[in-house]
Amino acid sequence: MKYIKKTKLLDPIIQQFQQHTGVWDNLKNHLKNSVKDILKEEQSYLCAYCEDELPEGENKNGISLSHIEHIYPRSTYQDKSYHYNNIVMSCGGDRIDGTKLDHCGKHKKNYDPAYGFISPLDPHCAKNFTYSLTGEIRSDPSNQKAWASINKLNLNDKKLKDKRKEVIKIYTDIDNITENDALILLERLPKDTAFYSTIIYILKKHMIKAHH
Ligand SMILES: [Zn+2]
Repeated sequence: MKYIKKTKLLDPIIQQFQQHTGVWDNLKNHLKNSVKDILKEEQSYLCAYCEDELPEGENKNGISLSHIEHIYPRSTYQDKSYHYNNIVMSCGGDRIDGTKLDHCGKHKKNYDPAYGFISPLDPHCAKNFTYSLTGEIRSDPSNQKAWASINKLNLNDKKLKDKRKEVIKIYTDIDNITENDALILLERLPKDTAFYSTIIYILKKHMIKAHH
């Protein structure tokens, strides 16, 4: 999970959004889409939870492939429906081919983070998670909030795990990498790289710390 810094509070679109009241479904599409664009940019076009690239557009059934996700669900926290600090972009309910996607916001549904959750708006969120070479996301056995997040977001979904494994392979396959090379890779890794936190973790653990 990668930290998302919220810096657009004073943007006129966000101000307009925050003044909105009433039913979420009545939010005009043009405003919703403008908010989505702002959120996508501040997240470097990655899903707030799984860090895969946010898919663009709609699937063949006309369902958007990404959505505005309320960290505190609208069903329980109506007053937070239009809070800029409660919204992030998550990958959506379906894939482009119409098959169901079952992780991130769609799997979390109305889960209340008050029961334990690591938020991507926490500057230290990434420290709660580790990754195995097989692409699995893990945490310390005693870290209940992290495990709740992994389970409620279904972050060990097979497709996600396979994608992480592929990314890890790219970095662990580099031959004769020096510690300095790994440090440079780490520092220069573009923020919009899919599975950014996984790569940073692998670089630190398997390429830098290994030499000490
Ligand atoms: Zn996702």
